[in-house]
Amino acid sequence: MVIETINVIALGVLVAFALLMLVAYFVFRSEKEKRAAGISFIGFVFFVLAVVPVYLWSDVAVFFTIPLLVVLIVISMVLFIPASFFRKEAEPVPAGRIDERNTMFSRNELQPGKKRFDKYYEEFSDHRARDDVFRSNPGLLDKRSLFFNPLAFPMADAGFETVAAFHKLVKGEPKETIAYVDKERLDRFVREWLRREGVVSSGVTAMKDYHFYSIGGRGDRYGKQIGRKLPLGIAFTVEMAAEMVAAAPRSSIVMESSRQYLNAGKIAVQLAIFLRNLGYEARAHIDGNYEVVCPLVARDAGLGEIGRMGLLMTPELGPRVRIAVVTTNAPLKLDDRNYDPSVEDFCSKCLKCADACPVSAIPKDEKKEIKGVKRWQIDQEKCFTYWSYAGTDCGRCISVCPYSHPDNFLHNTIRFLIRNFPNFRKPAVMLDDFFYGRKPKPHKVPEWMDI
Ligand code: SF4
Ligand code: SF4
Repeated sequence: MVIETINVIALGVLVAFALLMLVAYFVFRSEKEKRAAGISFIGFVFFVLAVVPVYLWSDVAVFFTIPLLVVLIVISMVLFIPASFFRKEAEPVPAGRIDERNTMFSRNELQPGKKRFDKYYEEFSDHRARDDVFRSNPGLLDKRSLFFNPLAFPMADAGFETVAAFHKLVKGEPKETIAYVDKERLDRFVREWLRREGVVSSGVTAMKDYHFYSIGGRGDRYGKQIGRKLPLGIAFTVEMAAEMVAAAPRSSIVMESSRQYLNAGKIAVQLAIFLRNLGYEARAHIDGNYEVVCPLVARDAGLGEIGRMGLLMTPELGPRVRIAVVTTNAPLKLDDRNYDPSVEDFCSKCLKCADACPVSAIPKDEKKEIKGVKRWQIDQEKCFTYWSYAGTDCGRCISVCPYSHPDNFLHNTIRFLIRNFPNFRKPAVMLDDFFYGRKPKPHKVPEWMDI
């Protein structure tokens, strides 16, 4: 009787694993992940075959099933100790502001022979040698670059040009009278509108000094102190299509970046105009025209944490998002930020982006203290030099990140286990490596845009 019960439980476990592998197979297949689909199919066959001897020869099988169940129980007890049992880390808060002139996009706009160029390198002479290297490369979206695609590049360029056309709308005077709208209703309306516009997540935070650049670095803001600081920031994220990101650093990534910058830009500008129509001050921060550091605003609005690659890691899609922000004085409700140390802890064990980066721009060592906070900082010069050689914004780090997997039951379960069970994090990295490979090969660009 005891033997039979043990074998029934073991059969249940084996059947559950077989079903899990079967579900995984279909999910991976739909995601065009050939290696992961192949492994899960083999896993399915393995567990189905393991059922047969347990079912047919239960007297002998018990010598196998008892150790199996004991091992599973012990592993589960260790892996699934809840996060509340572990010491809570203190939330890191940056001190000091970033000078936008030192960002690579700002430096990329400097033109040799112009006064601004000479003045910048007089002040930041240590940047000159490395910047000369990226200037010697073909450049972003250039037809001589490595991943030039005669359809995708002009379309990406068209997206960036369109979003630039919104720049004149990012700020403006509010309408004279503040329309009476109940605070609660306004808050609900804004959030619901954003959701219907297709944003993945949104939140509101009180703006802090470190959210703003200290000095502007692009367009007519170049060299000017960032002035009027509105008190609230509405941050939101939009999804980058997994299929387009999976081919990174090939041309689909830059086309998708441009598409989602445009999408986020359009939503942010419309929201800012809407708030100004109600009589509030509002300024949209969109591609090429930011006064704020979007990932920091989004982080403090409760949308995620900053990971090893320096990007916002959202609970839903990891770094596979683009962000926009609207700063305003409209009376919106603040979102409570619930610091989640699981992301940094997972990043300390994972390092997949650092291993996959074609130019080793992502640090593999411990976090370092930068502007009063311990964090990882990518080598932005190395990264941008690669972009100007590849012609795209690369995104290889985003494509291999285990948090970037699509928003479905299978991956959401893994993300849930990573967040809530610290001991599961290392095995989760190993599982990701096993199914996808430590350095997964980039997919081909989608067939419709191939040439
Ligand atoms: S790939 Fe790994 S280490 Fe890099 S950001 Fe993603 S989770 Fe963190
Ligand atoms: S975008 Fe590419 S080059 Fe830059 S850090 Fe990520 S993987 Fe490295």
